[in-house]
Amino acid sequence: MSAEVRIRGAVKTYDGIRVLDGIDLTAPSGQVTVVLGPSGSGKSTLLRTVNHLERLDSGYVSIDGELVGVRVHGDRFKELSERAILRQRSRIGFVFQNFNLFPHLTILDNVVEAPLVTQRLPRVEAVTRAKELLARVGLEDKAGAYPRQLSGGQQQRVAIARALALEPRLILLDEPTSALDPELVGEVLAVIRELARSGTTMIVVTHEIGFAREIADHVVFLDEGRVIEEGPPSAVLDRPRHDRTRAFLGKVT
Ligand code: ADP
Ligand code: MG
Repeated sequence: MSAEVRIRGAVKTYDGIRVLDGIDLTAPSGQVTVVLGPSGSGKSTLLRTVNHLERLDSGYVSIDGELVGVRVHGDRFKELSERAILRQRSRIGFVFQNFNLFPHLTILDNVVEAPLVTQRLPRVEAVTRAKELLARVGLEDKAGAYPRQLSGGQQQRVAIARALALEPRLILLDEPTSALDPELVGEVLAVIRELARSGTTMIVVTHEIGFAREIADHVVFLDEGRVIEEGPPSAVLDRPRHDRTRAFLGKVT
């Protein structure tokens, strides 16, 4: 099952600055939405609001019609219970720029941890699932290793396996290749490409324009906390309508 994400009127301020300035965005179920934009445009903040890591000042995010905390201007903030938040978050996979693996756990235990704790899966089942996922990302032989023994590309593939271990209905990837040496980018993109074919809803922040063109169903260009332009990759990437989009694409490609 994969989820539809709707973001409406999303506003988030830090120190009086609107880093999200009224964002409307829909990530359709089963599709890959790629978010582009200059550094500081609000991309990470946007992903973090979807996963309850940040709370909006106003507007809302919903996943399959279920609200992820709401605050409509002037109205009281409607809090979700801690339990509801954990339940929602347990079905969202998040892949960070810097992998964020647990350094003291083996590769296998990194993948096993979340299903054991949040889904209370029996260990035998969690281990079986983890081994399948490590095979899927080409790392079955690294199960007993520790993160520091792996290359950045391998660590990021583990992080992807870990995100998949929750059988997510939504996967968020925040610049998954930007911390990697250039020669390691390809192996991680290959895993994400395979994932994109699986029909899980994905929102991907990336500066890899060629890759975006290949995997995106929908491209959104953000600048200064606003959606400047969106549409299919053939429109936004090949025939951008806005100067700011053109300027950005000119810099990254
Ligand atoms: P992007 O991912 O597009 O580079 P971010 O969402 O990380 O952008 O940041 C958007 C803006 O919000 C930046 O100006 C950043 O400095 C600011 N910002 C992000 N997180 C915080 C925070 N926790 N406290 C204060 N400012 C923040
Ligand atoms: Mg970011």
